[in-house]
Amino acid sequence: MQDWEVSILGVRGSVPVPSKEFMEYGGNTSCFSVKIENHVIIFDMGTGLTVLGRELIKQKIMRFDILLSHLHIDHLLGLFSFQPLFCPEIEIHLYGRIGLEGDIRKLLSPPWYPLGVEDFSAKIYFHEIEPEKNFYIDKFQVSTIKGNHPDGSILYRLDGDVKSFVYALDCECDKKTFLRLSEFACGSDLMVWDSYFIQEDFKKGWGHSTWKQGIEIVHDADIEHILMAHYNSDYTDAFLHEQEKIACEDKSCIFSKEGMKLGI
Ligand SMILES: [Zn+2]
Ligand SMILES: [Zn+2]
Repeated sequence: MQDWEVSILGVRGSVPVPSKEFMEYGGNTSCFSVKIENHVIIFDMGTGLTVLGRELIKQKIMRFDILLSHLHIDHLLGLFSFQPLFCPEIEIHLYGRIGLEGDIRKLLSPPWYPLGVEDFSAKIYFHEIEPEKNFYIDKFQVSTIKGNHPDGSILYRLDGDVKSFVYALDCECDKKTFLRLSEFACGSDLMVWDSYFIQEDFKKGWGHSTWKQGIEIVHDADIEHILMAHYNSDYTDAFLHEQEKIACEDKSCIFSKEGMKLGI
């Protein structure tokens, strides 16, 4: 059975932090990919997408499926320097909330950006999806639920014959959300989790969670591993090291670092 290769390209929330004291965990905003044979499914277009775009061109991958959690700018910034947009032989499929196409067209226009969607040579397709509905990318089933986040977000679950991957960023875990998420992610192999806050810094209504809440869900929902991500842009490497030491006493826990690849 083929491994699914999960690549970690961007681990920060809110803004990129390309400074020395953030480089070990990484300074790019949210971007992850799952490679299954020749399929590459990408989650979010934070600044980590720039590096991924270069890699995938080298690997001669011709089709990209990009699932967007929501349109807050930290999840879109990588689009502005995504080289595959300039390759006529490449197909890019973008999936996101209702209104996605109009919103992306607005963003890719003056005065925010000098080029529009029609100026790129890649073939771009928009797929607007209603959360709670399922669809397929090739033979892989994609399920979705709504996240608890200002302006909304979509959480994704990708299922193959025997493996499954959950992407749950930008979601505040209150009691109701805990139950919904636990059911949604039940039995999955790996869940990418919103660890924007530590418990002491948690701010109600900001739409983010803590690593501790993630570990509680893992045990409730029988998830194999949890990958902490979307770190607060104030949390330095030294600070995250300390948190990792405590959190990883639980063997399900992994703190994501840019450049890391995991097999599931
Ligand atoms: Zn975010
Ligand atoms: Zn957000």
